[in-house]
Amino acid sequence: PDIYLNGQFLRPEEGKISVMDRGFLFGDGVYEVIPCYAGRLFRLEHHLQRLDSSLHAIHMTNPLSTAEWQAILQRLIQQLPGTDQSVYLQITRGSTGKRDHAIPKEIQPTLFAMTQPAIYPDEASLTNGVKAITLQDNRWHRCNIKAITLLANVLLRSEAMDHGASEAILIRDGQAVEGATSNIFIVKKQRIITPPKSEHLLPGITRDLVLELAGQQGMPFEESAISEQALNEADEIWLTSSSKEVMAVVELNGQRVGNGKPGPIYSQIANHYQAYKNLLRKG
Ligand code: PMP
Repeated sequence: PDIYLNGQFLRPEEGKISVMDRGFLFGDGVYEVIPCYAGRLFRLEHHLQRLDSSLHAIHMTNPLSTAEWQAILQRLIQQLPGTDQSVYLQITRGSTGKRDHAIPKEIQPTLFAMTQPAIYPDEASLTNGVKAITLQDNRWHRCNIKAITLLANVLLRSEAMDHGASEAILIRDGQAVEGATSNIFIVKKQRIITPPKSEHLLPGITRDLVLELAGQQGMPFEESAISEQALNEADEIWLTSSSKEVMAVVELNGQRVGNGKPGPIYSQIANHYQAYKNLLRKG
């Protein structure tokens, strides 16, 4: 499919940006990944709101209105009509033709968006769960910004993969904060717990939806810190993200979580999540 770049729809190979773009030189930009089910964008307003807060945090303003973004993204996804897709959009600060850290006053941002066929969480991972390891969180203190600067996450995720795990759960000051590419939940004595929003984690759209669904279903939940010990002693551990959806961790650092199978509360929430998705599919 065509991509969107600075006001134009182009073949991917026609999309060119300057080597002086601050996104390329400094990783000076932010992004969003928006799932699209049966040709319908999932929680678009939430994603655009988070985009605005990321932009605000890096002293930028959204160059486009919600309606303008909607029009661009609709045109992209209509290339693969009625299908499940993953939409990516990125805004970098742009280029002044110079490499200088200081934020320039006059600069035009670079706007980029594309769509790809959805990469599903595989059926086996959803039904059987996945393995995770814990790693020290060595990222910065602005993890609530969805910055394109993902080197730390790339290295952490890669270290997890080297250990045969599909995700790294990150520990900062003795607390489990989130995954390298996902948010975390635990269940203890039937109670769903996820860390509160802070500068140490990305406010996940899937995380918020899971809390919303838990609330609607009258499932007890709280937003509070999860110590490393609480993580190790959890009855259930879940990961959430737009691409993972809700996934159970059944093995942590080589130890079984609960009885080594996705737990009963997981099954409930995963069903509610699928039901919510299916509602959207039907429009
Ligand atoms: N935390 C991190 C570090 C992430 O990269 C992601 C998404 N890839 C998430 C959490 C989950 O966010 P969302 O549910 O909006 O996909």
